[in-house]
Amino acid sequence: MTQIAPGGTIGILGGGQLGRMLALAAANFGYRCHVFCPDKRSPAFQVAHKVTIADYEDEEALEAFSRDVDVATYEFENVPAVTAELVARDTLLRPGVKALKTTQDRLLEKDFLNESGVKTAPYKAFETEEELKLAMKEIGRPAVAKTRRFGYDGKGQVMIKSRADLDRVMEVTGGAPAILEGFVTFDREVSVVVARSASGDVAAFPVSENVHTNHILDTTTVPAAISEMLEAKAKVMATRVANALEYVGVMAVEMFINDGAGEIVVNEIAPRVHNSGHWTIEGAHTSQFEQHIRAICDLPLGGTDARGKVRMKNLLGTEILDYEPYLADPKAYFHHYGKQEPRPGRKMGHVTWVETD
Ligand code: AMP
Repeated sequence: MTQIAPGGTIGILGGGQLGRMLALAAANFGYRCHVFCPDKRSPAFQVAHKVTIADYEDEEALEAFSRDVDVATYEFENVPAVTAELVARDTLLRPGVKALKTTQDRLLEKDFLNESGVKTAPYKAFETEEELKLAMKEIGRPAVAKTRRFGYDGKGQVMIKSRADLDRVMEVTGGAPAILEGFVTFDREVSVVVARSASGDVAAFPVSENVHTNHILDTTTVPAAISEMLEAKAKVMATRVANALEYVGVMAVEMFINDGAGEIVVNEIAPRVHNSGHWTIEGAHTSQFEQHIRAICDLPLGGTDARGKVRMKNLLGTEILDYEPYLADPKAYFHHYGKQEPRPGRKMGHVTWVETD
């Protein structure tokens, strides 16, 4: 296995807050980061050693970027597959193209999960109105229609409870390839952030419990209010997914928990560091960002235990402007992503509280 020793250069595709926090963690270990992003105002640029401002389809820029770095990674899952393939031709790309392609498409992802023995909601692919009707017959109501690609924070989704909802589906999908999922009855949503190193070592962080508002993550708490049995089961499932994908890096596996039935259903996989893992920066022995750097550079993985009870809250839009109370709170860790425009719903920063005994 190829180890990238501290002092090497890490390439990051994508310049958002996740890239920024990755670059900060990498700097602690003496690595330099080269960030590639088309947007010249990218938050990660503020903390990078080198930047490339170019389109993801710009072959010349990608070649120069790949030549400059010892290993490349990505901070968002919609990196075009051609971009990933180009980078992987010239340098190490971790996680690899397989992880990206599988998780970019909800149908491929669900097929992969079920083939790996991990349970998901029942699902059926459709494109046309006819196919949607057939899928509805099989899946039944309530159901959720989702476009196969480019959906995030509830975009490209319709919850189907009534006939009127059903009439909206084709409007939202626009005839693009989509899936119909059976509605899962759950008590809570959780995620497992898990790392797998280039040498194949795996370490999962404690399960975190996530509350969404308007489809956007609002808070994460650790430990999740679930039994030890479910905690262990969730970690085993996440580990199985990471191994089956031959994954290298940190990934998040989002799950629905039904406490009464003792059942866990996987919703989706994010092939990257994840918002529900931000609590680890101060709340765990190793942060998810440092863990990702360790995994892709093939260093030993760090300890994943929580330091106590942890709560993370996202600061969206103009919430970022009211930071004074967080600075005055001796138990709060405040993070500002350096974005200029506080648009509604935009992730601008977060706060973490750690309660040690
Ligand atoms: P997703 O974009 O797949 O993460 O879905 C966004 C949110 O919609 C999830 O966090 C759930 O709260 C809800 N949701 C998605 N799929 C289902 C489902 N099959 N059953 C019940 N709720 C769902």
